[in-house]
Amino acid sequence: MGKNDPRHIENTPEFKALAVNKGVEQPSSVNSDAVKSFLKKNRKLLLPEEYVNGILAGDIPLLSKAVTLIESSRAEHQEIAQEIVERCLPHSGNSIRIGITGVPGVGKSTFIEALGGHITSGGSKLAVLAIDPSSERSKGSILGDKTRMEELAGNPNAYIRPSPSAGSLGGVARKTRETIILCEAAGFDTIFIETVGVGQSETAVHSMTDFFLLLMLAGAGDELQGIKRGIMEMADAIAINKADGNNIEKADLAKTQYINALHLFPLSESKWKPKVLTCSAVEKTGISEIWEMIGEYHKNTSYNGFFIQRRNEQAKYWMYETINEQLKQGFYQNPLIRKELARFEKKVLNEEASSFAAAKELLEKYYKSR
Ligand code: GDP
Repeated sequence: MGKNDPRHIENTPEFKALAVNKGVEQPSSVNSDAVKSFLKKNRKLLLPEEYVNGILAGDIPLLSKAVTLIESSRAEHQEIAQEIVERCLPHSGNSIRIGITGVPGVGKSTFIEALGGHITSGGSKLAVLAIDPSSERSKGSILGDKTRMEELAGNPNAYIRPSPSAGSLGGVARKTRETIILCEAAGFDTIFIETVGVGQSETAVHSMTDFFLLLMLAGAGDELQGIKRGIMEMADAIAINKADGNNIEKADLAKTQYINALHLFPLSESKWKPKVLTCSAVEKTGISEIWEMIGEYHKNTSYNGFFIQRRNEQAKYWMYETINEQLKQGFYQNPLIRKELARFEKKVLNEEASSFAAAKELLEKYYKSR
């Protein structure tokens, strides 16, 4: 761009007092917009060891960011997340993991506030996680509601993380299990995992906790509470909540009934007889007794070896769950399968192919395509 450059008429002799210097040009081969957008998107990503060091130092904002990576479905996020989990694993495990379930309205969040307040005032560090696979469908997650557990949310010894909202129960459960590992590495010695006692998620929670607590109400039939026999069988304790005001007598009566019902179940491998207690989450009565009972369970099962045995069994279970989940993902995300699935579905619906033949052919296509 010289003095006679026609684009800069001010550089011509008529405009002697003016001169526009040549600027620095961008190398044309670089798409600066793409670079900017990449940096913008990835600006918040750190190296795995930076997350890990932060987590081990108890840095809660970094812990939260790492959990967000666990919950992300983006491949690059998953890659970092898996490395963080692997590196945190040797620092995890040193906690008691407690599953808490019960139908909506039974008082789970009030109870968690009461018990959480009790144990954090005793010096414990508590992480509250949730499994609520319905949260994506219903949009407003029951367990992710920000107005719940306000007291605990402001407690420096408590960390509350709502349920991951994406995907299948298996996926949600895996994310929660990985979050447990990170929380333990960050120094949380007590983990609560809350779930709504109406579906499959109890089994998932049971498969990742040391102690399973079922909250119930007095006076409501089991059917009304939506509690299935299988869930009662999983419980290490039943707490009958709202034992206050003129509900106390009813709660005591329900306690006797549940004790009798639990007698019918065979003694589990833990040799622990499930306990039934009453409490009031609002009045904070019966709460310390529940904590003592959990402590007793921890002591007994550590002594007889069941505590570690249950964790080992869970580790095995999760190995298979992870394999199943990955196989499924690999299959359904395969480009060829994604293209073919609808066509095969139609064939089955139109009775042009049996479901078995269609499945077999799709699987063969999948294996050949790899
Ligand atoms: P969640 O849906 O199981 O989490 O139940 P919440 O904790 O939100 O409680 C549902 C309702 O029951 C709220 O209005 C609470 O105030 C009330 N509630 C919870 N615990 C108690 C209790 O111990 N006694 C009484 N009387 N009400 C309670």
